[in-house]
Amino acid sequence: MKPLDLSLKFFPYFIVLVVFNLQFIQAQQSDINHKGKYIEQNIKYDPEIAEDFSIMPSATGWGYSFDSLLNDIQLWKLNTKIVIDTIGYSVQNRPLYELVITNKTSGPKTCRIAIHARTHPIEVQSTYVTKEMIKYLISGNIKANELLDKYIFSIVPLYNPDGVELGYSNHNANNIDIEGGWDLTEPEPEVKALRKLYKSYMDSPLPIRAALNMHSSVACERYFVYHHSNGTSLKYSELEKQFIAGVQEFFPGGFQNWDYYVSWTTGTPTVYPESWFWFNYNDSVIALTYEDMNCTSAGKYDSTAIALLGGIKDYLDANQTSIRYYQNNNSNNDQSFDIFPNPVRSSSLMNIKIKNPPIRIDHIELFNLSGLKILTLNYQSKANLIQIALPKLNPGVYYLTLMGSGYSRHEKFIVE
Ligand SMILES: [Zn+2]
Repeated sequence: MKPLDLSLKFFPYFIVLVVFNLQFIQAQQSDINHKGKYIEQNIKYDPEIAEDFSIMPSATGWGYSFDSLLNDIQLWKLNTKIVIDTIGYSVQNRPLYELVITNKTSGPKTCRIAIHARTHPIEVQSTYVTKEMIKYLISGNIKANELLDKYIFSIVPLYNPDGVELGYSNHNANNIDIEGGWDLTEPEPEVKALRKLYKSYMDSPLPIRAALNMHSSVACERYFVYHHSNGTSLKYSELEKQFIAGVQEFFPGGFQNWDYYVSWTTGTPTVYPESWFWFNYNDSVIALTYEDMNCTSAGKYDSTAIALLGGIKDYLDANQTSIRYYQNNNSNNDQSFDIFPNPVRSSSLMNIKIKNPPIRIDHIELFNLSGLKILTLNYQSKANLIQIALPKLNPGVYYLTLMGSGYSRHEKFIVE
């Protein structure tokens, strides 16, 4: 399946000219370089490499297979609120699909909400709840539309497709639990792909402000893995309580209280996605693992999904001030850049002047006001004046992001 990629649309028309070097640099798009293709795997369950786990998959596996996802993607692709992207590939080269869901025609977006599910193949309920969230978001319900008017959702419904297809309970095709590894330079390909995606969002003008890591537990309760202030901060632990209480309001009796499962009591672990968010972005992102019920009485996935989404919205609405402050942090930074002319005409030349060179830029990204990435350019340069030939763009507000090692700044510009 060919994933839809907005950036490819403009790719051939886009040329960057670094004036001082008088050097043309060819734009590249990371996906183009990926030679891997999805190979159909017929392995269902291999006891030789099975995990040390007493539960064996049934003849039909854990449920909601990779094929189920491919079927759903065919339907989701038809929806104008959804863009399907491939963020990378699993060990066995299955695409890792991401759904980007938003209302592209409404006004400016506030931030992103990231959700990924099925790290552990046995936890099929995590995908069921996630599917219900997708269903609700595109339902046309007035509350759902409010969410899509304000936010961009990034949803990875099947993060460990190999493990699901191999019938493993908790591991990927390399027999590794991909819940960990976020602290490694070279983690498993699934971790690497998701971390790269989240990093690119955090560097964008519309960063992630809420992240859910979807699981399910044989404890047979719905609950969040709460992080103690010993491993976070007093402020963060209060924000977690606020978030969890907000979710509970939408589904009375549905979720356990925040103190049902308390983790990080003796410090901060380094390996989890939540660790990565905490170490890099502190309390600007509420990042939590949610555990659905993994037992025969599991269900009410729709009520659960609506409560999670309602809770996220209330939390973000209530914490808007601090979020804005965080987002504006770079505006008075002396390492930012100027764009001129601004406003600029479509299909014309645009100049970028970096205020305090030298900074080594290695890529440039262009976003529309909805926060959807229009293109990515990879190039290496230390020049402080860069000239870009803009592609044909509709009139409106856009964001340009410059990124280098330890450097990420964005500025707004207008196309007339
Ligand atoms: Zn799990």
